Amino acid sequence: MTLIQSNKGDISEKVIGSANLFTNAKSVIPGGVSANIKYFPPHPIFMEKAIGSRLVDVDGNEYIDYLLCYGALLLGHGHPEVTAAVNNQLTTAGTAVFGAPHRLEVEMANKLIEYFPGIEMVRYTNSGLEATLLTIRLAQAYTGKATIAKFEGHYHGGYNEVLVSVNPTIDEAGDENRPNSVPESKGISSHHVENTIILPFNDLKATEQILRKYKDKIAAVIIEPVQGGFIPAEEGFMVGLRELTQKLGIVLIFDEVKTGFRLTLGGAQSIFGIKPDLTALGKVLGGGFPVGAVGGHQEIMEIMDPTKGGDILSAGGKAIKKDHVLFHSGTYNGHPIVLAAGLATIKVLEGDNVYPGLLQKTKNLRSSLEKLYHSYGIEMQTVGMGSIFNIVHTNHPIRNYRDLLKADMKLREKVDYELLKMGIYTKPLNRYSMSIVHTDKDIEETVRMHEKAIKIVKGIGS
Ligand code: PMP
Repeated sequence: MTLIQSNKGDISEKVIGSANLFTNAKSVIPGGVSANIKYFPPHPIFMEKAIGSRLVDVDGNEYIDYLLCYGALLLGHGHPEVTAAVNNQLTTAGTAVFGAPHRLEVEMANKLIEYFPGIEMVRYTNSGLEATLLTIRLAQAYTGKATIAKFEGHYHGGYNEVLVSVNPTIDEAGDENRPNSVPESKGISSHHVENTIILPFNDLKATEQILRKYKDKIAAVIIEPVQGGFIPAEEGFMVGLRELTQKLGIVLIFDEVKTGFRLTLGGAQSIFGIKPDLTALGKVLGGGFPVGAVGGHQEIMEIMDPTKGGDILSAGGKAIKKDHVLFHSGTYNGHPIVLAAGLATIKVLEGDNVYPGLLQKTKNLRSSLEKLYHSYGIEMQTVGMGSIFNIVHTNHPIRNYRDLLKADMKLREKVDYELLKMGIYTKPLNRYSMSIVHTDKDIEETVRMHEKAIKIVKGIGS
């Protein structure tokens, strides 16, 4: 058997089936992946089935899953309540989708309004990215301004104005008090780069200077209240940012695609006690199905109200419509199956002791891993909030994107490849997301595998 080698490490002869599929995939799908982030060298692992906290690949290898579809699967794989809700919706409705309004859209909107302090009305999209883009257009329509400001290192999806300064090199990034706008992809026009101002996270003074200077141009500040789902905004920073944006006539958008439901039912905003003007949601909201949602102040949300203008696609649409209404659409918006899965997910999360149990398990894993790495004299901290954390090899405090660049990524990557071979799944260098179905046994096994991986990487005999 061939041993698959990469310059990062090898992921062993155990994944031959994946290697073969990848060869085929990359001839018909660019890079063999349906999203660029899903690639890692020498090739990603192709999955076949899953149950609870476990994934099984096409070669029959089993993994404890900490990627959980990039955080979406808070209930783990195939939760029976979600599966039942989806089957039930499909059979009782007799169709996958109505292409017309339906009951579940209202039911879900009421849930989001109940739990998220900043949400008074809701619209649905099919992804987190579509949700962040809609928040931006709403802010632009509401303020009449065109520029947006985002924080360095924050991800809001893979499109134009938000795909800027997510992961710049330190040289590209420029002055830490006035970071450069760095495009993260080919094909992003200079218009978008110029119209996205970059702010330094957790630095209120520098943020204030930039916002004051450009306040007449900036429609919105968009922020991940917990950067990457694991670096929390500091309290003073968050409070200050809310006051400042309000004062300067800038819409404050919380991108809670990752944090919504991960921390608690009302997202980071309910924990920070801050009401953003607009909120973008996704991931957990769809219970494993493609989803996004935008919620916010009624006054802003109602800009989309079609009763105030025409439908641009209707025959002979009236010219008045463009001046009065923000056009938002999507064939599958508010998909019944997706909302059935999401409502079932929320119902499970509303159960007694669900969040305390989840947070305790996360805490146990984090502290066991820290203890383990420190016992081998390795610099390491877990950085996180709620049920997401990351493993960072530096003792330097982590408050923003640039702090992360100080960590020893090479060590982390080597360990991650060893863990993959041993059946601990996260994409190398990615964060850890926990689910309510990870067991104490999973945690013990994970810590044991980390110890084995450390020994291999450090060349310590067992
Ligand atoms: N915002 C944040 C904070 C995210 O984490 C993501 C996805 N990782 C997105 C937006 C984009 O969501 P999607 O991949 O569903 O388009």
